[in-house]
Amino acid sequence: MSNEKIPYKIYLSESEMPDAWYNLRADMVNKPAPLLNPETHKPMTAEELGEVFCDELVKQELDDTNAWYPIPQEIRDFYKMYRPSPLVRAYCLEEKLQTPAKIYYKFEGNNTSGSHKLNSAIAQAYYAKKQGLTGVTTETGAGQWGTALSMACSYFGLDCKVYMVKVSYEQKPFRREVMRVYGASVTPSPSMDTEVGKRILAEHPGTTGSLGCAISEAVEVASKDPGYRYVLGSVLNQVMLHQSIIGLETKAALDKYNIKPDIIIGCAGGGSNLGGLIAPFMGEKIRGEADYRIIAVEPSSCPSFTRGKYAYDYCDTGKVCPLSKMYTLGSGYIPSATHAGGLRYHGMSNTLSQLYADGLMEAVSVPQTEVFAAAEEFARVEGTLPAPESSHAIRIAINEALKCKETGEEKTIVFGLTGTGYFDMMSYEKFHDGKMTDYRPTDEEIAASLANLPVVE
Ligand SMILES: *Cc1c(COP(=O)(O)O)cnc(C)c1O
Repeated sequence: MSNEKIPYKIYLSESEMPDAWYNLRADMVNKPAPLLNPETHKPMTAEELGEVFCDELVKQELDDTNAWYPIPQEIRDFYKMYRPSPLVRAYCLEEKLQTPAKIYYKFEGNNTSGSHKLNSAIAQAYYAKKQGLTGVTTETGAGQWGTALSMACSYFGLDCKVYMVKVSYEQKPFRREVMRVYGASVTPSPSMDTEVGKRILAEHPGTTGSLGCAISEAVEVASKDPGYRYVLGSVLNQVMLHQSIIGLETKAALDKYNIKPDIIIGCAGGGSNLGGLIAPFMGEKIRGEADYRIIAVEPSSCPSFTRGKYAYDYCDTGKVCPLSKMYTLGSGYIPSATHAGGLRYHGMSNTLSQLYADGLMEAVSVPQTEVFAAAEEFARVEGTLPAPESSHAIRIAINEALKCKETGEEKTIVFGLTGTGYFDMMSYEKFHDGKMTDYRPTDEEIAASLANLPVVE
């Protein structure tokens, strides 16, 4: 196929779509450390996790031996409505940059929710339905996850209760309304629905909420009603498993044209899109079958990998969720109001954390004004309006392509374009008006936050 021009978009046919998810942990030599009970500090059992999460998802969460999970037919049918997602050759960007590098991006913004989060939302809703539950609860900050989950729940006829951080609820009314189109109930958090909400409102009247508080409310509502379970859109291993569909499709598309990537790049908030994109490639790397440079990109305002500590920490501010060993800035770390809401998480997937600790991947952090500059450079030639989160990956892909221009190397770069930015126009406006600032936490701020890490023997 070497003389054939690679098409602008490499699509797979329905029959070429992956029919199983890949569990990277099965191939890892050093497995990620187990989740711990926040009170006893003993590994979480399936029974304990089952009080909050659906049974089948608990099984997936705790499984680090089975490499493949067949994707249930019902989920594959839903995937077919918006998948396979295209792998796009960024010919126009290459031309603009005058680089010998070959740039590809896997575009996950091709569905109404506008991001990759739907890949896991539909799986989680399916298992809740199969368990005979009435519904699920969750939190949402910027709104992408809540939107994806609302779509998934309406498809399977499940009730969906979303606790939305109050400041986003007020500032992002359109996101809220999209969720209501799909039948979700959206409650600004903190609310008077829960004990934790009432307590926080009594202590901090007029608070605009936080993700940590919204998580605590969603968990409380789910744990009080046997017909409900709590679901989470990132960080967990079950989410990374479902997101492996991204990497498996990418690899299948590249294999069709015998393309071997040199560098694979993704943005990292809780790590689910990056973990999913790299999964099959990292598997080959661990098994010694191929080698790739793999780069995680995070905001310099929330630098978990690059400046955090690899330690056990709470997954949420309310300290109700299990402890996870991960790169963390401390569960009390409040990142400055970065415009990439989906990357504002103090911790990281424990699987990616282990891989990073083992030197199998790299990480870099970038300031947001550079991210928005890259977003616009990309939009103007490739057309797609990228989400600020995704644009972190664009920034580093462009930087690597420019390095190739200097050295003359024809490297193949693949990056994940996780979503579209239509709901982020206020951020683009700030950027255009020169009102966007770059905040870099000081070493002292990070040290102060890390001083509160739980002591785990
Ligand atoms: C949520 C989100 C992210 C970050 O989440 P990960 O779990 O790290 O993938 C990235 N991009 C978009 C568009 C998102 O909505």
